[in-house]
Amino acid sequence: MELPNSILIVGGGVFGVSTALSLSERHPNKKIILIEASPTIPNPHGSSVDTSRIIRADYSNPAYAKLAADGIKKWRNTEWGQEGRYTENGLALLYTEGNSDSENYTKKSYENVKKLLEEEGESSESIAEKVVYLPNKAALEKVVPRYVAGMNISGGYLNRGSGWGDAEAGVRFAKKKLDEMARVDVKHGEVERLLFEEATSKVTGVIFKDTVNGTTSTITADLVILATGASTGRLLDLRGIVDATGQVLAYIKISDEEQAQLAHMPTILSFSTGIFIIPPRNNLLKIARHAYGYLNPSDVPIPGTSTASSSQTMRISLPVHDLPIPVEGERACRQALREMLPSFAERPFARTRICWYSDTPTGDFLITYHPSHPNLFLATGGSGHGYKFFPVLGDQIVDALEGRLDAELQQLWKWPEQRHITEAKEGEFVVTKDGSRSGKIGMILKDELAKSSRL
Ligand SMILES: Cc1cc2nc3c(=O)[nH]c(=O)nc-3n(C[C@H](O)[C@H](O)[C@H](O)COP(=O)(O)OP(=O)(O)OC[C@H]3O[C@@H](n4cnc5c(N)ncnc54)[C@H](O)[C@@H]3O)c2cc1C
Repeated sequence: MELPNSILIVGGGVFGVSTALSLSERHPNKKIILIEASPTIPNPHGSSVDTSRIIRADYSNPAYAKLAADGIKKWRNTEWGQEGRYTENGLALLYTEGNSDSENYTKKSYENVKKLLEEEGESSESIAEKVVYLPNKAALEKVVPRYVAGMNISGGYLNRGSGWGDAEAGVRFAKKKLDEMARVDVKHGEVERLLFEEATSKVTGVIFKDTVNGTTSTITADLVILATGASTGRLLDLRGIVDATGQVLAYIKISDEEQAQLAHMPTILSFSTGIFIIPPRNNLLKIARHAYGYLNPSDVPIPGTSTASSSQTMRISLPVHDLPIPVEGERACRQALREMLPSFAERPFARTRICWYSDTPTGDFLITYHPSHPNLFLATGGSGHGYKFFPVLGDQIVDALEGRLDAELQQLWKWPEQRHITEAKEGEFVVTKDGSRSGKIGMILKDELAKSSRL
């Protein structure tokens, strides 16, 4: 499919910047604009930016396992992973008894990573050395003795070929590449809304509020790509398709000695609690929870297709920043520390953060043309696992734009046949059931914070 001449990408995170890079490599003569609301890329509040992100091919779905393995090759062997942007320390994926979702996920994932190595011609001895099955806690204690002593774990495996990325440095590197190519016009400001042609519902551009001079203007384009992460629901009605969920992060300052002791540990991800610990860097230890997360129900105007602003509102979950984590989340982190790294369990948190996933019901990305708005394309729905694909994602997105995405990925990332009705407490919000989530479904952030203030 021939792409039009002027292309506007909204969003300067992993999805938007990788798209901009691949588009400008493949189509150097197109007019490409990238708009980012934050005054900087990396955006410190963006989901793509943090001290660390797990980089793993350990997926229960073979299509993601294969794509992630392609990504890891780039992290490992090209400049993407240099200067500390990628560290290969291994990942232990663990499950508990009675949690069949996580046991299934882990076992399928174990088979997938072994198969990928077989396909690459690795010998069975080499595979057994790299991917170590851990049938019980005793086996686990041998490979990650420091972490698992107090944990309620029944099995898992260690993949020595997985690693982690410095997620702020990764975005900075990709932006530098974009600047060096000098083919994309980067603007900083907020897209207030999309512009539609009334008769056809075709998207013709955006209303843009410039951060630098405060002016509001119209930017037209032949194709608009929304890579707006967890905030996408503000610009387009994605009820039942994508919702923002807030996830808990906490950071602890550690000494030089502790840094040296922990730096080379594998990352550990316990499906029983969703808690994961990535080895520290620069004396900062991060503890995080991969869960159903908090919802932030917000009433916003239904994005219309007419020029007049809509008087009707809809309730969706949207990101909110600079809030403390609820006591519920803090307790979960401390409990996990008591089990995994007891000597840190009572240390003060140097800082905490609620970071926002852009969640779909299945955990699959949403990378597709909009079915009823010509010239509008979505590249979002990261669902808490998009970072690792950074070096290969843009090419997939441009393949989808050109109508030649691999059929399996196309099926996973398509516009859903129906909007998903959920079991969340308030309203109808997306619940991600990809087998990897833990915790309570449907926690409302403001309620959890209110409980915290009463304690
Ligand atoms: C806590 C946490 C842990 C994670 N852990 C992992 C992990 O271990 N491994 C992994 O692979 N992935 C992980 N992920 C997922 C991964 O980080 C995300 O899938 C990915 O970064 C999402 O990228 P994005 O471009 O969609 O979103 P973002 O990085 O949020 O980018 C979207 C950008 O769009 C901009 N924007 C939004 N609305 C507008 C507007 N109206 N106008 C202009 N600009 C706008 C925003 O300012 C933002 O910068 C994690 C995510 C979180 C939150």
